[in-house]
Amino acid sequence: MSGKLFVISGASGVGKSTVLSRVMAQRSDLRFSVSATTRAPRPGEQEGVSYYFVTREQFEEMIRQNAFVEYDAHMKNCYGTPRAQLEEKLQLGHVILDIEPNGAFNVRAQCPDATLIFVAPPSLEELERRLRGRGDTPEDQIAVRLERVQWELEQSKKYDYVVINSRVETCADEILKIIAEKAEK
Ligand code: 5GP
Repeated sequence: MSGKLFVISGASGVGKSTVLSRVMAQRSDLRFSVSATTRAPRPGEQEGVSYYFVTREQFEEMIRQNAFVEYDAHMKNCYGTPRAQLEEKLQLGHVILDIEPNGAFNVRAQCPDATLIFVAPPSLEELERRLRGRGDTPEDQIAVRLERVQWELEQSKKYDYVVINSRVETCADEILKIIAEKAEK
């Protein structure tokens, strides 16, 4: 059996991880694709659960070995979807990837069946407030991230679905509805 692929993107601070945990808790047939990154772990992030934390050398070696389905360098770090674990998880059921737009379009090019969902903030002001309030991102990174938000919002037009995260529960429910619809096809 091979499951369906769901890609979720959304600007930093949009509350995507909270929404995602809620979605994951509701569907035991949905697995999370763990990316590799050169970014340093944030407090509470666990190796192999949130990310595989690797050095730039290890990341480059993975590129050479064609170990990524897609990868991208943004906000001063590299992020990539390891091919082997994605394929393994797809054998077991549906898989959800939390990746940014370049990666999302790359996945779509390889798997045209993938469903692309963009989680948008209610407003840019609200997003900036949430990002600072989270307190886990250094100030110089906040500026870099905010610059990127505009570009990401532009890309949302090319997604299959745009869901606004005004309230976590409602946003998660909307995503669950999309997943249920696609998963049954
Ligand atoms: P963060 O550093 O906040 O965890 O993630 C920053 C951005 O990188 C987010 O937009 C996230 O979706 C994206 N990202 C995480 N993993 C991957 C990946 O494997 N590939 C790509 N292209 N983007 C990723």
